[in-house]
Amino acid sequence: MKILIVDDNSDARKLLRYNLERRNCAVIEARDGVEGLELTAVHKPDLIISDALMPGMDGFQFLRAVKTDKVLRSVPFIFYSATYVGNREAELAMSLGAEAFIAKPKEPDEFWKEVSGIIEGYRLKADTNAAEELLEDDLEYLKKYSNIVATKLEGKILELQEANARIEQSEAFIRNILESVDEGFIVVDPEYRVVSANRAYLGMVDLPIEKVTGRHCYELAHYMDSPCYKAGVDCVVKHTFETGEPHTALHVHKKGGNPFNVETKSFPMKNAAGEIVSVIEIINDITEKCKLEDQLRQAQKMEAIGQIAAGISHDFNNILTAIIGYASILQMKMRPDDPLIIHLDQILSSADRAASLTQSLLAFSRKQVSNPAKVNLNSVVKRVEKFLVRVIGEDIELKTTLPNEDLTVMADTSQMEQVFMNLATNARDAMPNGGTISISTGTVHLDRGFIKMHGYGEPGAYVLIAFTDIGTGMDKRTIDRIFDPFFTTKEIGKGTGLGLSIVYGIVKQHGGYINCYSELGKGTTFRIYLPMTKAEGPQKTKTPERVAPAGGTETILVAEDDDAVRKLSIHLLEESGYKVIEAVNGEDAVEIFMTHRDEIQLLFFDLIMPKINGREAYEKIKHVRQDVKALFTSGYPEEHIYKQDIIAQGLDFIAKPAPPAVLLSKIREVLDK
Ligand code: ADP
Ligand code: MG
Repeated sequence: MKILIVDDNSDARKLLRYNLERRNCAVIEARDGVEGLELTAVHKPDLIISDALMPGMDGFQFLRAVKTDKVLRSVPFIFYSATYVGNREAELAMSLGAEAFIAKPKEPDEFWKEVSGIIEGYRLKADTNAAEELLEDDLEYLKKYSNIVATKLEGKILELQEANARIEQSEAFIRNILESVDEGFIVVDPEYRVVSANRAYLGMVDLPIEKVTGRHCYELAHYMDSPCYKAGVDCVVKHTFETGEPHTALHVHKKGGNPFNVETKSFPMKNAAGEIVSVIEIINDITEKCKLEDQLRQAQKMEAIGQIAAGISHDFNNILTAIIGYASILQMKMRPDDPLIIHLDQILSSADRAASLTQSLLAFSRKQVSNPAKVNLNSVVKRVEKFLVRVIGEDIELKTTLPNEDLTVMADTSQMEQVFMNLATNARDAMPNGGTISISTGTVHLDRGFIKMHGYGEPGAYVLIAFTDIGTGMDKRTIDRIFDPFFTTKEIGKGTGLGLSIVYGIVKQHGGYINCYSELGKGTTFRIYLPMTKAEGPQKTKTPERVAPAGGTETILVAEDDDAVRKLSIHLLEESGYKVIEAVNGEDAVEIFMTHRDEIQLLFFDLIMPKINGREAYEKIKHVRQDVKALFTSGYPEEHIYKQDIIAQGLDFIAKPAPPAVLLSKIREVLDK
């Protein structure tokens, strides 16, 4: 250790030097503060031991100079002085930065002990200071470094947050898609538990999400307590778990116990290793579709029945034409007082009924030709009453209130009969334990007030028919749909849902209106409004058959492919004085006309014939002779389109089966034009 001794007394210095050198210290001496300061700067001693009172610069000044020097201040400084008078010097020395103040004289060992103790303490303090400084440096460094790390970390965190936000966004997007569709969507685990479900699925099972996740799919959709496949259901989830393939099946699911039809599809959901961890099931409510299919099937059935009805009616009308025709000829030839004439009347009225039955069949298939004529509605009701009584059965009473008024409308009688029949069938079904049906007629004037209230109608005079039953009645939702085709509340086989839609169609076709008033448990009233017309002056006598119809001597070309009908027409015409040339089809008719072109005054053509139809044959003939007269006939309902066309062109038409008298007067009418 290198020690600087500063003392003005050389003996004191010598003594101290001896003591210190004995302990292996290198000693430098100075005689006062100034010299001490110089040597301190030069030698950088490890310790300064200084006297307090010295000439020139004393110990305190020297101490201050050392401790205020940036470089020298670190050298420990001890006072060794005999001028120790009390604490004051010591306190001053310590306050100036001295390590200790030792009073002279001191026994050498003791002195050394004290000095080395002080140095030890000083070193410790210096070490601590250095360590602290180091620590501070480290801290500084750490702070600086952590700032960089901190900044970098922030960048990373931001990236992470952005990635997170992106994931959340795409999750929300997918969820949004799943929530927006109306297909039910669930994820099912291998235990058949629902892991996830979308809004549509919750709607299908009518439960909140917390009552769905974790539950078995077979509990939720089938109300079963074991997997549905055990009950024989083609379970798509099972199929996909076993095969790894998508699968589709039609199921009946339940919602609050009510069954509905679904189409269900399954898809496998695999992990990274390619194993199926769960199955996605997509469920589509196809109840509406199934109903539509049923309706379509029903409609196709009706269409087929319609086709058959139309086909039969064609042949049937030809047969009826012959029956009515020949019977009429017989009737004309008999004397009015002939006792057999009542049997003929029976034949004719039965044939009439058969003809109207054909019309009903056609109304059912909606292929009927509407033949509106002026009729009094009361007479229609009276006629149909007999049939209605049979339809409604003995338990139901039929009351009619028909005022003696002019209730003339332009109506197709058989269609009107159909209306009453359909209403009566419904009324009967609504009164399974019997009851009363009341039909009343009357007149009413639809004014602006009525039209405003009901939202339909043309102002004017109408015939009103009210049809009332005291049956089950209907609620509002049923009333709203009763006129829809195929709407029925009746069980399969009991109702077609066509009854009221036919009624509606017929009423519309007649330029009329229909409405329904009904209350549950109280019964139902249908009101039908048909536009009124003026009655014909005096009613035409209803027995034209008995009056010999006017005949003629003209030549008529008859073209008809049905032998019986052709023969009847020829017979009838020849009986009435006409000359008749016959043709068996359209082509035949054209050929024959060419050879007899100057004789023939009238063409009497069936519309539908093989090879060339009546209309085409007429066109060809007209080419040769512009002014040729023609009368067309047909029993085939499909032809009402041709018929409209013919009438539109100002040509004449008569429907089969036509009573002979009607036919003869029509022929006369056309010839006399
Ligand atoms: P369908 O009789 O074949 O069901 P409709 O078109 O005739 O078809 O009638 C449709 C539905 O209107 C019926 O199923 C029934 O619910 C209801 N309905 C019709 N008339 C009555 C009535 N008089 N009383 C109660 N309900 C009726
Ligand atoms: Mg019905």
